[in-house]
Amino acid sequence: MADHTTRLNDPSVTANAAWAARDLAHVWHPCTQMKDHDALVPMIPVASASGVWLTDFAGQRYLDAISSWWVNLFGHANPRINAAVRAQLDQVEHVILAGFTHPPVIELSEQLTALAPAGLSRCFYADNGSSAVEVAVKMSFHYWRNAGQGGKRRFITLSGSYHGETLGALAVGNVELYKDVYQPLLMDVITVPSPDAWGREAGESEADFARRQFAHMEAALVRHAHEAAAVIVEPLVQCAAGMRMYDPLYLRLLREACDRHGVHLIADEIAVGFGRTGTLFACEQAGIRPYFMCLSKGLTGGYLPLSVVLTTDAVYQAFYDEYTKLNAFLHSHSYTGNALACAAALATLAIFREDDVIARNRVTSAHMARQLQRLADHPHVGEVRQRGMIAAIEMVKDKPTREPFPWTERRGLAVYRHALTRGALLRPIGNVVYFMPPYVITPEEIDFLVEVAREGIEKAACA
Ligand code: PMP
Repeated sequence: MADHTTRLNDPSVTANAAWAARDLAHVWHPCTQMKDHDALVPMIPVASASGVWLTDFAGQRYLDAISSWWVNLFGHANPRINAAVRAQLDQVEHVILAGFTHPPVIELSEQLTALAPAGLSRCFYADNGSSAVEVAVKMSFHYWRNAGQGGKRRFITLSGSYHGETLGALAVGNVELYKDVYQPLLMDVITVPSPDAWGREAGESEADFARRQFAHMEAALVRHAHEAAAVIVEPLVQCAAGMRMYDPLYLRLLREACDRHGVHLIADEIAVGFGRTGTLFACEQAGIRPYFMCLSKGLTGGYLPLSVVLTTDAVYQAFYDEYTKLNAFLHSHSYTGNALACAAALATLAIFREDDVIARNRVTSAHMARQLQRLADHPHVGEVRQRGMIAAIEMVKDKPTREPFPWTERRGLAVYRHALTRGALLRPIGNVVYFMPPYVITPEEIDFLVEVAREGIEKAACA
């Protein structure tokens, strides 16, 4: 694979440069210090994408190891999803979902309620993950209000949690980097220490640590149940915190305690849903049904923005009343339940059914685990961890003490830059290098990623 530096004389590179310059003149990119693009980080214009590969205007390919922010499941330009979206274009592209409906949203709701944990029988749509979290938060509060308990208006969240960037979603999340500046604008939440297994003592099992950490949650519920509407969690993996993983026991204890204390449980499966952790939904591994389950990202196979909150009939019934009682859930987004997005989602679910994806992913993730073991002994790797199709490598300055590299040194950025020169899109979170690839990745492509990650970690550690 050609190195960027060896391609500088290639005339086709100028097309990349021209697009990059036009981009930087007007586009303000997400989650980016734009000054980094002055010299530190190249802007990569994508000319085409197919399978796990993104291709720029000079023909350089990049393996999309992070599924374009965790959304893509079955590769870019997937023929089956392409065909479904094309066919839907000739029927109806979008229609208001209040008072009107369309077959894709009906069929999708039938299929999702059949696949989700039993009892989640109602689907409320929005158009991105953060909006789904806003819906769940508002719906939980509003449920209690309709039930005559308007005092239940606070939310309990875990340290290290992430639920999106809109103000409500940001408030119930807990990643300082994204939240701290906006704190004055945010509702006050109750934050409980996470069961993140990285924090366990040497020799302590993940389950024992989950049980130990649960004592904090139990205490918070005892103290705050009278004023708490819901607990919100990312089941099994706190992705934005650096793919922090925890034992399913925590979710079992949490579900039981939420029932005991009369508090809702919101499962944010926006990142972990649709097979990422090894089961279709992460909640399955704990055998629990939340009151609200938020889905987005992989829902459309990574094609179009769509999200949905699944909830129970009991919650639905609490809003079902005479109009004049003013109990309805009057929340809306213009693109709610977009027909093209629903068609992409139906094609995605068809692939899960027809290709036995969950079983095939077990083989792929076992290969990933075997290859990643090669990195476990590296002096700058504190831990390699994995849940299904999510794998993470924790870079540390000092292995015995697990002392992290200071964040200001931006070691992850060094890995990102190295990976680009080798033809891979790895986008570490702080000191955590991770793979969250499309499920169509091959064993050889996994081997390539592991090699690029190893080189990147070496370079970053010596930077
Ligand atoms: N919840 C979780 C767990 C997420 O990982 C994300 C996105 N990374 C969101 C919510 C927000 O989704 P969106 O970016 O579509 O608003």
